[in-house]
Parts: sequence; structure tokens; C-alpha cells
Amino acid sequence: MSQILLALPKTDLHVHLIGCVRASTLEELAARHGVPLPLPASDLYARINSDPTPEESGRGPWFPLLRIYELIGSCLREREDFARVTYEALEDGLTESGTVYQELAISPTVHLGHKVAYATVARGVQMGIEHAREALGVDARVIAAINREDSPASALALVDEITRNPIPEVVAVGLDFDERKGPPQRFIEAFRRAGTAGLHRTAHAGEHVAGAANVLTCLDELGCERIDHGYHILRDPAVVSECRRRRTVFNVALTTSRRTLRPWRRESVREMLDQGLRISLNSDDPKLFPTTLANEFEIARRDLGLRASEAADILRNGIDAAFCDKRTSAGLSQRLESALREAGSEWEALDHGNGGAGA
Ligand SMILES: [Zn+2]
Repeated sequence: MSQILLALPKTDLHVHLIGCVRASTLEELAARHGVPLPLPASDLYARINSDPTPEESGRGPWFPLLRIYELIGSCLREREDFARVTYEALEDGLTESGTVYQELAISPTVHLGHKVAYATVARGVQMGIEHAREALGVDARVIAAINREDSPASALALVDEITRNPIPEVVAVGLDFDERKGPPQRFIEAFRRAGTAGLHRTAHAGEHVAGAANVLTCLDELGCERIDHGYHILRDPAVVSECRRRRTVFNVALTTSRRTLRPWRRESVREMLDQGLRISLNSDDPKLFPTTLANEFEIARRDLGLRASEAADILRNGIDAAFCDKRTSAGLSQRLESALREAGSEWEALDHGNGGAGA
């Protein structure tokens, strides 16, 4: 499975740039910008743990995910820093997982907190994408994520910044950070303004808040075309059936969760598939947990009994739901279908005689 799966061209639609920074790069950037790290970067990532066991607590220190996320953000200061981490994210995606297209979410207000302007971030990321296109033959777009823990006014200011500094790669706005602290209703105006400006829209919803209401608000009031996570909609059969009717794509991730919630999340994704919902698989914050997109597919195969036909549909959904132009999308589609044809009977045979993985 690994080799066939690895060779298939993939999209990653839900991946945060800050969550892609290599530990070795973080070490260098922290030194250059004089940001003290509480531990050497190579040890730091292994210390991100939202739920240490009682035994592990005594072997601290442990750091909350969002604290490390902010810390990495504070080490990115110059356009070249953003270009470098973008290029490395695209390079790692390709070599580790066969990812040929990513939609990288940036966190402009995290950087603004360190006096780094939106234009510096976006231009740097654009440079990294241009470099990767030439050197690696991969492509990417950018989602400017609104931090839902910020005020509605700062969300509006971000949308205005995006429209004042048009960059072709920046095609969408998103909504992330803690869902419990920032309900989507607060950002209706910012999302409407983004829609009027021709930006695509997505949001993290149904990840932390038990219930389907946030997902509906994001789809109907914020105008989101797809949803990041969304597991909690399973609590409401009427919403499940509505999302199935609309063919909404949920950009799920199997690993990037508190460890104690991981089994529930994985069972939820299996249930979403069984309920006929469309999903795409994604790496989310691959360096911080750590995982890779190929690993997410392996987990789905091993723990969720993902069938070859389901894996192919997931890969197709990742292209259908992408926020790129039709030409790019058609190119991705062509690349995937010809790889699937090439894998041919070997790919179909995965559901038979592979340790019962096709259950
Ligand atoms: Zn995310």
C-alpha cells in the first residue's frame, strides 16, 4: 500500500504554514531574530502535548500547542523567512507524501503582533510558491486565516488589507484558532466583505463545539464553500443529510488533535464516510504532531479500513474542493486519473488480500 499510495499525486487543502516549519529551520530563524526558545527546537516539538499522562507530567516541561504556534510565528520576521518556510513546506509535502498542490493557511494577525505587515507575509509566501513551482513542479494557493480569538474589527481590517494588496496566490479567507472562544456569527460581516471581493471562504467548525450549529452558520451566513474538520455535525442527522445533499466537502485530519480525542476523531471520520459525506484528507499541522499526508492515508487504511475506491474519491474531492482556477484543477485531475490508471489492477487489488483492510 505504502508505495502505491505514496506515488499518487495528492492535494492538501488544510495545512497551516506555521505548522510546517522544520525544527532545524526554527532553530536558525530564532537565532537570527534573537527569539529565545525554551528548549532547543529539535526537543521542543516533541514536548507539545496537550494531555500529558500523570507520569509524563513529571518529566516536563510540556507546552500547549497554541503557545508553540505563536512562538514559531514570532520567529518569522522577513519576507525571505516566509519564502523559505513556504518552499520547505512544499518540498516536504512532495517528498514525504507525493503532495503536488497545497493550500497553505497563513496567520497574518499573529505576525502583525510582531510588527510584520500583511504584505510582507503574503509577498514572502508568494516568492516561496514561485520558487517551488520552478524547482519542484508543484503548485499552491494561500488562505489568509482570520484568528477567531481576535475582534470582528481586526477581521474586517485583515480583509481590507488583502484587497488593498492583491496577490494572485491569495485566493481565500479562513477562520481558525479556538472555536469555543470565537463563534462564527462574529465574523459574518468580514466574510461577506471577503466574498464581495471575490475571495473564496472556508472555516474551522464542528471541531471543538459539540453540535452542528456552527457548521450551518459557516455555510449559510459566512458563505463557506467547504468546512475544515466538522466532526460534530454527526450529532444532528438533519444537518448530515443537508450536507450530503449539498455535497459539502469536509477537510478532515486524523492526527492533529489532543491525544485523548484522537480515537473519537478517527471514528467520526469513518462515520462521516459511512453517512455518505464527502471528505478530503489533510495534514493540518504536520511538523508539530508530527504526521505527513501519506501517514494520514496509512492511518485511514489501517484504522478506518479505508477502501481503495474511497481513497480515490478522497483524492478527487481534494481537487474538486480546491480554490484554484479551472485550468490548474483540470491539470491536477488529469495527473491523478492517469496515476490511478497506471496503478491499475495493483490499486484495485488493495481491497483483496491486504490483511482485510477493505472491511
Ligand atoms: Zn487546522
